Amino acid sequence: LVDRMRPFTSTVFAEMSALAVKHDAINLGQGFPDSDGPASMLAAAVDAIESGGNQYPPGIGVPSLRHAIAAHERDHYGIDRDPDSQVLVTVGATEAIAGALLGLVEPGREVVMIEPYYDSYAACVALAGGVRRTVPLVRDGDGFVLDRSALAAAFGPNTAAVLVNSPHNPTGTVLTDDDLAQIARLTIEYDAVAITDEVYEHLLFDGRGQHPLALLPGMAERTLRISSAAKTFACTGWKVGWITGPADLVAAARAAKQFLTYVGSGPFQPAVAHALRTEMDWVRANAADLARKRTVLSNALRTAGFDVHRSEAGYFVCADPRPLGYSDGFEFCREMPARIGVAAVPVSAFVDDDQPWRHLVRFAFCKRDEVIAEAAERLGSLR
Ligand code: PMP
Ligand code: GLN
Repeated sequence: LVDRMRPFTSTVFAEMSALAVKHDAINLGQGFPDSDGPASMLAAAVDAIESGGNQYPPGIGVPSLRHAIAAHERDHYGIDRDPDSQVLVTVGATEAIAGALLGLVEPGREVVMIEPYYDSYAACVALAGGVRRTVPLVRDGDGFVLDRSALAAAFGPNTAAVLVNSPHNPTGTVLTDDDLAQIARLTIEYDAVAITDEVYEHLLFDGRGQHPLALLPGMAERTLRISSAAKTFACTGWKVGWITGPADLVAAARAAKQFLTYVGSGPFQPAVAHALRTEMDWVRANAADLARKRTVLSNALRTAGFDVHRSEAGYFVCADPRPLGYSDGFEFCREMPARIGVAAVPVSAFVDDDQPWRHLVRFAFCKRDEVIAEAAERLGSLR
């Protein structure tokens, strides 16, 4: 194995999901819903298969999906995109992240990212031969905020890109408008590009709304925006994601993407196009449901004795098990499946500087009510 990939031989999701299977535990580790997305979307995929959509689709994505993605950007954010040159369909947000970094980061250049970071960010920066510069979130009451002075210090003449994830995995934090404004200012000052991972763009709670960095002055021409059907339509196994942005940056990501996978799988693309056009009511109802599940699981964790952080969006809530006598999240997560039949993931799997995050554990609440109720009961036996 090459040196640059040595730190990335296995993912925390694989390890904790395997433990969940081994002990028949409830898997609140890996973030995937345990019920399906909109029925009409599933039917559209079956239709696409039965009507012969089973050969290579166009490399940049089927036209109906690229048009639906462009219409979605216009309807939700007022951004106009040319579906042929400013939209690229990818194999999940994962390939979008890889394609953007491989197409835009020269070896030795730096990529600024928020810590904790989604695990593929570090691995893909390493694949590109880049260097990561992390900016920690810091505690603020029961939530987190970006460390602004660390943000300013992370940018410099060698910055190629900033990778921004809001809503944030693993913490469920939504960056404030002030945070976004500072990121925009620094990105422009250092003539870098921004890559925004907005896969949870439709899963904000308590009246919050998504504010794309691309909308800030001077940012449209230097921002690639990434999203995925996985989260919006609860189909993580379909692996349909996309990138939108200015044509030159999309072309850079496309150049890399075409040699990663050539094309994405065909029949799911028209189905996602159908969902983007017709199922946004389902998405809104699903987000309201997730907000309620967030509250139920957060309360259950509190009752079980955890110190629980505020989750503002997405699939996850972070909790501190130190009041229960556990100071190491990895140890806790390795022990729980066998001990009480619940799996989770340690936040320290998503960081460079382990110290501030060592104790913290991430739980997924994108699960059926009865599953959350059973997990709550099992967690209650920890005391
Ligand atoms: N980015 C973030 C922040 C995620 O949480 C995930 C997965 N849940 C991804 C990217 C990957 O998305 P996909 O499954 O569409 O590849
Ligand atoms: N994004 C999901 C999570 O954070 C799944 C990740 C994965 O399986 N690679 O749990």
